[in-house]
Amino acid sequence: MLQAVDVGELALSSYVGAAPDDLLDRLRAAAEPLRGLRVLHLNATSYGGGVSELLRSVVPLLNALGLQAEWRIITGDPAFFTVTKAMHNALQGAARELTEAERALYLATVERNARDLVDGYDVVVVHDPQPAPIPRFRPDLRTRWVWRCHIDTSNPGPAVWQFLRPYLEGYDAAVFTMAGFVPAGFPVPRVSVIPPAIDPLSPKNIELPDRLARQVLNWIGVRLDLPLAAQVSRFDPWKDPLGVIAAYRMARTEIPGLQLVLAGSMALDDPEAWEVYREIEAAARSDPLIHVFTNLTGVGNIEVNAIQRLADVVVQKSIREGFGLVVSEALWKETPVVAGRTGGIPLQMEDGIGGYLVDGIEACANAMVRLLRDPAEAKAMAARGRERVRARFLIPRLVLDELALMGAVVSPPG
Ligand code: UDP
Repeated sequence: MLQAVDVGELALSSYVGAAPDDLLDRLRAAAEPLRGLRVLHLNATSYGGGVSELLRSVVPLLNALGLQAEWRIITGDPAFFTVTKAMHNALQGAARELTEAERALYLATVERNARDLVDGYDVVVVHDPQPAPIPRFRPDLRTRWVWRCHIDTSNPGPAVWQFLRPYLEGYDAAVFTMAGFVPAGFPVPRVSVIPPAIDPLSPKNIELPDRLARQVLNWIGVRLDLPLAAQVSRFDPWKDPLGVIAAYRMARTEIPGLQLVLAGSMALDDPEAWEVYREIEAAARSDPLIHVFTNLTGVGNIEVNAIQRLADVVVQKSIREGFGLVVSEALWKETPVVAGRTGGIPLQMEDGIGGYLVDGIEACANAMVRLLRDPAEAKAMAARGRERVRARFLIPRLVLDELALMGAVVSPPG
């Protein structure tokens, strides 16, 4: 059996006040005919990155609504995750091909995991490329297969896409964050567009009293008497942490004493992170105002919550981005954001609502300075951003959309 991930319990009533009432009513109604539906969410890691963040809330919420949801992960050795990260990069447009040996390792690992999948689910939702070929190896299972793609596959590298494409043919449905991400010639009959969302009740997003947030930041060594910019992201070249440092250095010439926090989690399925971490360390080592944190040094959900809450500006200078949950996380805390105009980020904010969208290092620095110089205006923008998140990007909306899709795939055609 594949390894299960433990999740907590959630009650729908806890969202009253945070999420719009009519949304919760619609969610309850949509779940009613699906009570008892057995759903498996399958991905590659239980921590680090947006997918695990989502599943930690989606799975308990499905259970709270009367479905029987589970979350399981596939396993693989470091070489497998090196191949899947290369695939991830190629699917986002990087020039990378896979060797014969890499393809063989990938397929053998997925096949081994596929054999460990037991029968008994009405719907299996497979997340991202890592486990994607699973249906190919289990045609015997009487389930509906949904592929949930979280990355920007609008322009996939042709070699890797040609390789992966046939393995997607067995799916009944697929979900993308944006319509523009669906690659040309996509072979799945039903395609839904569902953007992700954040959970206002998770430890990362829950209300933190100011005093506690300040105590947490002080504890990890961030100065409370100086202004603060922060980027919270996996250490991944697409998130451009070195570009953030460059923009920060420009901004600091205008805002003396400005600090920068770079917080990055080391996801199990992201072997590239250590390389990027070393580059960041080298760029930041001699600078006492740059703080580099990871989950391995004790910066977890509460610390990220405090960082996003107390930062004067949150930066998300992505070059490619599936969605970028961190943008909604910051806006929910009424912190203004400067973010790359890419992928799912413009869904969440626009210029003047939540902060500024930027296309390069200099624009990023200028936007940071603008927000830091005018805190009242920045606050007003962030408040508008929070309202947008409340209306569109809270987890009950995501689950409502997913239920609609599941209802469609399990109901007999006609
Ligand atoms: N995250 C975290 N600690 C870190 C860095 C990131 O908890 O040091 C979380 C972050 O708060 C967000 C998720 O990891 O919830 C990243 O999701 P996002 O969609 O922004 O990017 P992805 O990693 O999926 O590309």
